[in-house]
Amino acid sequence: MSDREKREVGNSNSTIKRHFSKKEDTNKIKSNLKRFRRKNTNRRHLDEKNETRYVPLANNRNRHVDKRNLRDDAKDEKMYVIPLGGLEEVGKNMTAFQYKDEIIVVDAGLTFPEDEHLGIDVIIPDFAYLESNRNKIKGLLLTHGHEDHIGAVPYFYQKLGTENIPMYGGKLTLALAKAKFEKKDAKLPKEKVITGRNILKISKYFTVEFISVTHSIADCYAICIKTPAATILHSGDFKVDLTPVDGEGFDFGRLAQLGEEGVDLLLSDSTNAQIPGFTPSERTVGESLKDEFSKAKGRIILAAFASHVHRLQQIVNIAYSHGRKIAIDGRSMIKIFEICSNLGYLKLPKDIMIDIERVETHPADKVLILCTGTQGEPLAALSRIANGTHKYITLRQGDTVVISATPIPGNEKAATKNINQLMKREANVVFEKGIGIHVSGHGCQEEQKLMINLVKPKFFLPVHGEYAMIKKHKELAVAVGVEEKNILLGENGAKFELSKREFRQVGKVPSGATFIDGFGIGDIGNAVLKDRQNLADDGIVIISILKYKNGTFNENIELVTRGFVYNKDAESLLSKTKELVKKELSVLQSEKVKEIGKIKQRIRIKVGDFLSKETDRDPIILPIIMDN
Ligand SMILES: [Zn+2]
Ligand SMILES: [Zn+2]
Repeated sequence: MSDREKREVGNSNSTIKRHFSKKEDTNKIKSNLKRFRRKNTNRRHLDEKNETRYVPLANNRNRHVDKRNLRDDAKDEKMYVIPLGGLEEVGKNMTAFQYKDEIIVVDAGLTFPEDEHLGIDVIIPDFAYLESNRNKIKGLLLTHGHEDHIGAVPYFYQKLGTENIPMYGGKLTLALAKAKFEKKDAKLPKEKVITGRNILKISKYFTVEFISVTHSIADCYAICIKTPAATILHSGDFKVDLTPVDGEGFDFGRLAQLGEEGVDLLLSDSTNAQIPGFTPSERTVGESLKDEFSKAKGRIILAAFASHVHRLQQIVNIAYSHGRKIAIDGRSMIKIFEICSNLGYLKLPKDIMIDIERVETHPADKVLILCTGTQGEPLAALSRIANGTHKYITLRQGDTVVISATPIPGNEKAATKNINQLMKREANVVFEKGIGIHVSGHGCQEEQKLMINLVKPKFFLPVHGEYAMIKKHKELAVAVGVEEKNILLGENGAKFELSKREFRQVGKVPSGATFIDGFGIGDIGNAVLKDRQNLADDGIVIISILKYKNGTFNENIELVTRGFVYNKDAESLLSKTKELVKKELSVLQSEKVKEIGKIKQRIRIKVGDFLSKETDRDPIILPIIMDN
């Protein structure tokens, strides 16, 4: 027995695996298998043309039937998996896959800022690693059209300065991604529209296949990535919806088939890893919304995620069957309606849409106002309605407000504030989770287990989730038979090496958050944010000092403060500060300190200490020295 065979005997209790490399044994196994199948009704049926792919369930305890172990040369091939976003967070998903001098990137998402990110519009992954390897990148593959997967696409092309990396995705996904290039300083890349089971040779070494899954938007895919080193399945976002509203459905068959062929590594959506059971079908939401429509006597104002196209279709259908016209509001809602109805992803009955300005000209019980703002975003349509600042909609008794979403962690406070405001205005507000007007787009524990069962990976990397979620997902994987040592918990920037034998972290690449404020990509760093935080906390004190050519200073020091104290009430404090500056300047002069930077620093420290002692506040101190 060769060394390799001995190793494999040690590794596996599968007789199939042990002897598969010898042709005569292969034949023996085939006939054994046939006999086994005749006896065993609970068998796996895969590919009529290729009998070697049958694997009896009983012998499949080790889950991973790695027939490609047969090829000696393939065993030591290595590739790298580098998550650049989406780990220890829900948002800005992005993963790079590298084999030799080729890289493909799956998703380029964004995340929205939290309270501490003052003035930041959005946050995208750090592209530094991709920038320094830009010539290796062969394609950007998009799993689906949600912001946390495509929001950073234009920034990706802008930052890499090339439109030569083709973009792959479903028709809707690409349309939504392309719409993001408006006003951005990047040219549209070449695009390849894909559908389920499309197999594409992306480059010399990378072959990928898109496999349809169900989620809360159409054209949602898992992606199978094959290189000479390994086969990887990236689940994308998914739930297992057996009665999907639209689309190709969850492709159990193909996922199971890939599992049988042998998947080395699975990356899978961890969002709902802490929630037991199954996520109900999107269709159940339709039933609950129908009830609300039947009960409502006046206008219905319904807030939903604009990107939840399946939900929108159900709402349109229900409105139609109740004879209600639809007015839409909110920038993203208007954009989604435009793109999706043009592409046929949203089917709108004739004459159902009315302008929001004309809502009042229709009877109250014949109107549906569909808007954004489920998360309490201050500028969104629902928040404006709640605050009484909406241009066309003023709430009144008899209105029903339905919020068809739950707040994403972090948004609870703002969303609750909205609900209180809406209730104050006498509207009937429907928002409770329990009544079925919202279901998640992500699978719960049982669905996550099902994915692992279908794909039967040897190695597992839970992704798309905060630490608690990926950790829980690991436990679920262990429970369904993945060996614990084969599961890694990663962080953004981790560089994982993958071969058929081994999956391990070998290093780190630059990673983190890039802040977008206005047109700038990444020009706002943590230092600027810290300044903004300080400004917000304690304000600013500007000290202007006039310096004469002979090196002396004007006695007249000017102080301007903003957000620090109310100047009128703090006259004595400010004049004491001026005196202090004067004194420090004369000390500096006697010490013959000439360097402007040093002078500024001494004043900053002196004044900072003084104000901190006097007021217990730490404003930003900004000395300005002007030459006369
Ligand atoms: Zn999604
Ligand atoms: Zn997502």
